[in-house]
Amino acid sequence: MSETLRAVRGMNDILPTEVGAWQAFERRVRDWLASYGYRELRTPIVEPTALFKRAIGEVTDIVEKEMYTFVDALNGESLTLRPEGTAACVRAVIEHNLLYGGGQRLWYQGPMFRHERPQKGRYRQFHQIGVEAMGFAGPDVDIEHLLMTARLWRVLGLAEEVALEINSLGGAEARATHRAKLIAYFEAHQDQLDDDARRRLQSNPLRILDTKNPAMRALVEAAPQLMDDLDDAARAHFAAVCAGLDAAGIAYRINPRLVRGLDYYNYTVFEWVTDRLGAQGTVCAGGRFDGLVEQLGGKPAPACGFAMGIERLLALIAEVGVAAPGDGPDAYLVHVGEAASALAQTLAEGLRDGGVAVVLHVGGGSFKTQMKKADASGARFAVILGDDEAAAGEVSVKPLRDGGEQQRVTQQQAVNLIKQGVHNGNL
Ligand code: ATP
Ligand code: MG
Repeated sequence: MSETLRAVRGMNDILPTEVGAWQAFERRVRDWLASYGYRELRTPIVEPTALFKRAIGEVTDIVEKEMYTFVDALNGESLTLRPEGTAACVRAVIEHNLLYGGGQRLWYQGPMFRHERPQKGRYRQFHQIGVEAMGFAGPDVDIEHLLMTARLWRVLGLAEEVALEINSLGGAEARATHRAKLIAYFEAHQDQLDDDARRRLQSNPLRILDTKNPAMRALVEAAPQLMDDLDDAARAHFAAVCAGLDAAGIAYRINPRLVRGLDYYNYTVFEWVTDRLGAQGTVCAGGRFDGLVEQLGGKPAPACGFAMGIERLLALIAEVGVAAPGDGPDAYLVHVGEAASALAQTLAEGLRDGGVAVVLHVGGGSFKTQMKKADASGARFAVILGDDEAAAGEVSVKPLRDGGEQQRVTQQQAVNLIKQGVHNGNL
């Protein structure tokens, strides 16, 4: 018998029973992005390896050990499955001269590939939605990104579950000063360093701060803080970002040890974290990368952005148990009685003409049976057509999820009611 084939370890199928949650999530994210004027950019999944080495940095976990890199057998070119989205975004922006007419607000989504040890919340193929604003020096765009993400958590019903941590990595000079202090500090504590840290000591000491080794926590906690080396411009930028958060009433914690796993960041960095998902608690992360466009060969352009891990957000949504609105049709059409049933198909088409997604009940059955199906369909509303309603040229609209009274209305009023209800539920 032939061996059963299985998916690659750490890479998952998304089954029909799961895909509704993904689609509902993606729909709401798309609307949310549009409401801030961001447009999608789609880039290939494979890029020249050199792009990631240059953008992410040679001495990072990703480039050192997590990339799926292979040689194109036809021409010997080294290619890599993208481990993140920013590098390709910047490449495309430069290649197509997109910053010619001014700043760009962009987003991307799709699978990313990293050769990590698979565990809950950590996969070898995972999915991100990322946002990049290029050509804007901020801090207003930094603030926009933080307000945006805060809004998304509200939209998704996760506002209570996530907390914001921010830091400033300052400019190149501050990082150079801090780097020297860090090396001196860690050299003085050589005996407490793990292998990774010892390896990074000269090449990328800042990354030691991002260690996930609990045994090094205390050492890292007491390390010199980059915050102390910021120049006036970086301080003012960071103060403005904090003021923007304060003005919007968004709570945050300044975490002086927050550094990101990729080398291109400067100034503002942030993470949204949750304690509901165990060790893999970062659901969204980002910051400024003012030097990256130039570093990849473009005209210098400041930029900032963030990426969120879809698997982790969906896990959090499932953990918290918030319903995924939009995961069913807008309405389910219940029709009882001969006169009503004769009109049902026409009514359903009329509702769809008005922009309502409606599932028509088929197969007969009592009112009670049909209402059960309506509930199970995940619809927001039941549209009820009995012989009474049919005779009066009206329908009854019953909210199924958000409470509220059943109302007897005309077809046009039903369309308005339902669309308004769906709209409110989605924002
Ligand atoms: P971590 O510290 O968890 O390894 P990271 O710093 O490598 O994360 P980023 O490169 O900033 O992560 O990616 C942004 C987001 O993408 C993360 O916050 C997380 O939600 C998600 N993510 C990153 N790596 C994985 C993975 N292997 N599996 C699932 N989600 C991931
Ligand atoms: Mg990582």
